[in-house]
Amino acid sequence: MARRLGDEVVAKASQVGNDLDPLTAPIPPFELAEVAAYVERAYGLRGTLTPLAGERDLNVRLIASEGDFAIKIANAGEPAAALDLQLALLEHLATSDPDLPVARVRRSLAGRRVESIERGGQVFAVRCVTFLPGITISDAAVSLDGARLRRETGALLARFQRAAQGFFHPAADRNILWDLRRLGELRPLLSEIGSFDELKTVERILDRFERVVRPVVPRLRAQVIHNDFNPDNLVVDDRGALAGILDFGDVLHGPRVMDLAVAAAYQVLGLPSGEAAIAALSEFVAGYDTALGPENRLGDDELSVVVDLVLGRLAQSRVVGLWRAESHPENRDYILHHAAPVAAALHGAGSLGEIALRDLAQVEERLRDACGRADLVAPAATADLAARRRQVLAPGLRISYREPLHPVRGEGVWLIDSNGHRMLDAYNNVAQVGHSHPQVVDALARQARALNTNTRYLTDAVVAYAEELGSLLPGDLSVCYFVCSGSEANDLAWRIAKTVTGNTGAIVTEHAYHGATDAVMAMSPEEHRGAPLVDWVATITPPRPESEGGDEVERAIATLGRAGHRPAALVLDSIFSSDGIWDAPAPYFESAAAAVRAAGGLWIADEVQAGLGRVGKRFWGFAAGSATPDLVTLGKPLGNGHPMGAVVTTPAIAEAFARGGYYFSTFGGNPVSAEVGRAVLAVTLKERLAERADSVGDGLRQAIRNLGHPAIREVRGVGQFTGVELKDGDLTREVVEGLRNRGVLVGRTGPRSDVLKIRPPLVFGQEHAEQLVAAVSEVLTLC
Ligand code: PMP
Repeated sequence: MARRLGDEVVAKASQVGNDLDPLTAPIPPFELAEVAAYVERAYGLRGTLTPLAGERDLNVRLIASEGDFAIKIANAGEPAAALDLQLALLEHLATSDPDLPVARVRRSLAGRRVESIERGGQVFAVRCVTFLPGITISDAAVSLDGARLRRETGALLARFQRAAQGFFHPAADRNILWDLRRLGELRPLLSEIGSFDELKTVERILDRFERVVRPVVPRLRAQVIHNDFNPDNLVVDDRGALAGILDFGDVLHGPRVMDLAVAAAYQVLGLPSGEAAIAALSEFVAGYDTALGPENRLGDDELSVVVDLVLGRLAQSRVVGLWRAESHPENRDYILHHAAPVAAALHGAGSLGEIALRDLAQVEERLRDACGRADLVAPAATADLAARRRQVLAPGLRISYREPLHPVRGEGVWLIDSNGHRMLDAYNNVAQVGHSHPQVVDALARQARALNTNTRYLTDAVVAYAEELGSLLPGDLSVCYFVCSGSEANDLAWRIAKTVTGNTGAIVTEHAYHGATDAVMAMSPEEHRGAPLVDWVATITPPRPESEGGDEVERAIATLGRAGHRPAALVLDSIFSSDGIWDAPAPYFESAAAAVRAAGGLWIADEVQAGLGRVGKRFWGFAAGSATPDLVTLGKPLGNGHPMGAVVTTPAIAEAFARGGYYFSTFGGNPVSAEVGRAVLAVTLKERLAERADSVGDGLRQAIRNLGHPAIREVRGVGQFTGVELKDGDLTREVVEGLRNRGVLVGRTGPRSDVLKIRPPLVFGQEHAEQLVAAVSEVLTLC
């Protein structure tokens, strides 16, 4: 459909087994009136017909009352199977991603994708698809925003590939010379290259291809790919935004990274230097990688061949262009006009080709860096590291598992250890949107490159973040204090409560954990292992299904009163994680809060564990009922691993605190953290992770109940926070160890440590839940 570098001649060379040459065969000889009559007969469509440009096919636009269509009567040399492949793919895309901007197939009245029309003993294949309005990037180029288009193009390619993932067609296993895997077959054409230096460059690219790329190819992730995602085949709308993908003529089944490399090769053309080309390449590949989504990101093998494949594509275009100019002297200027930017990128001082062939590792490292995959320092041997750790880290700092875990990388729901083993992470709720989420990592790197300061200066990020966080909380909860951990958030909330109420007592649950500062450690009975608490802390039991919070709180107020304290705050972990994971019944918080408020105290909802969508659509643990807390504290998931915490309260409480208290944090709310926090919120909302937590979490709990194992006492929880109470703590420890040995990470909790604690990153899906349940079943059977 569109012009393309060197396409005719390669298509000619590639029509294997097809004795009619579609390039030299004439455009099908039909009059518009004949087409109109045919279209009405075959498709039941009647309207206004106008001719469209076409090098090989007869293309006609038809504006009918049913819509705007393109009728394409193929050159007699076009193999019908390849046309059917294109249309079958379009039909697949229409179902797998209905909003993907591609043409839709209009089947004939006989129900066929490809129709035929006969003339003079020849049969011509006919297709009818919806007409995609707009103008190609190449034709619109002068007025476009290159960087924006680069990002959009990468993202659109990723989206196309995701949508095409489940598609196959026998003709996709085809043999065309534009298949980069066949690069070596160009060797006989290298004599077309007049310059000795350029010849050497292309030979080196072909040699590297054989040596470095070919051995990796069989391992690369493959699917049906577009294979020609270039600016001639991409349409923009009148605002310059990407609005359509054209030309599925080179579609085939092959490595998806080849699709990326073909597209990337066009992104480096026409740039002023090799350095600019590397920057554009990195930006493009990173944009694509991000858009693939955490589950689908480029793997190491793929990243290791991208640069070679881009060079391969440039060499392919160059050689074919020269060959074509030779065999079509009448068109030489036109052909070489297209080939010139390819030659400039490929060869010559300071070109992409020259830099890459001099130090390919460096260019590859730039790509990895842009994708957030810079090589880490090689890990130490696990046993040595454990020994060294004992010397230099605090002795009380317990290490998980008998055989310590030594992860070196995280991806989505996976942790990869130093031996390269993948562990399914069903434990780390901190990695809310998945380990190393590219959007979060990009936000962090971008802001760190630009500026990092503190909240005493005006910075956009922290204000926007506070607004966004506030908009997710009910009532007047809109004033934010930013800190760097959950402990700090609780410590500050506690100080605010004391200052504002003038009281000194705290009420917590009997096995609560609220953090590690002096004040909140005193409010963390879990860490006191039954030893008496200070007299300003009184405890209540965590909620049971029939619990009524108010009675318990009143008893605790009376206990505090006997020690001379009135309550400043009731501090509740809204999912009661360390108490064994309890989802409070709807009236619980309302009744508990009413009791403490009546005694002059405030309700601090500790959402460090429960907040930000973990408990599902209700988004916050405290939202089990309709009451709104006075202060909300946040931590763990806010920064997806970046150390962040926050206290959110009402303007009235914040003003009252400002009169009697001081607060500033050097690091809390810095612009880098704020941008990270914004990215986490954006991904959580965009990917509808709270909704996913509900559906996957409910399914997970049901599947564990369905195991019906006698050692399982109770399965409870909400959203993606699940507690599985087992027979006793020893068994629970063995199950946790057994799961770890099977590559699945969970924790344990509760006063008797007899509850499996399952709270994976929220991107955890059905398939991961199934893997987890299968492992739990196996381990329970053995224990
Ligand atoms: N509150 C709760 C409910 C927690 O679970 C934790 C940490 N486990 C904290 C506060 C303290 O958070 P941090 O470790 O970030 O200081």
